[in-house]
Amino acid sequence: MAERDGDGWVECRCGSKHWGKHGAAGIVLIDPETTSVLMQLRAEWTHGGRVWGIPGGARDSHENAVESALREMYEELSIHPDSVTVIHDHMWTDHTDWHYHTVIALLPGETTFQTNEEAELADWIELAKVSNLDLHPGFASTWETIRGKIEEVLAAR
Ligand SMILES: [Zn+2]
Repeated sequence: MAERDGDGWVECRCGSKHWGKHGAAGIVLIDPETTSVLMQLRAEWTHGGRVWGIPGGARDSHENAVESALREMYEELSIHPDSVTVIHDHMWTDHTDWHYHTVIALLPGETTFQTNEEAELADWIELAKVSNLDLHPGFASTWETIRGKIEEVLAAR
């Protein structure tokens, strides 16, 4: 197994501290049948506390963003990478000192999943209702862009 070398904080010129020495990646999982997103409620003890977000985390130096996002998804939800279809992987949030890469993928709604200790629960949330949740601030700041991309991608299918 390749070395995990991404864990650590970055002091960013935006004034914030971000997790992931080589940046971070996350995955938006969509059930195309119900147009819902698989969101997880992070555990109280995690950085940022008990807020909703997507599976993801620090990227290792040897990984590309998709590999990183799929690994995190597997670690956090026990969803095998073969279950998902990546439909978009070009969405960057660039902070110069740090970046976050959002991968968008399809996952059949009947797929079984199980949260690990980093989350209290995970659930399918309708696209239109995601913004009603108490969202992780990093995710909240990019959600409208992500949502626009999801709608564009789904409409083109
Ligand atoms: Zn920053």
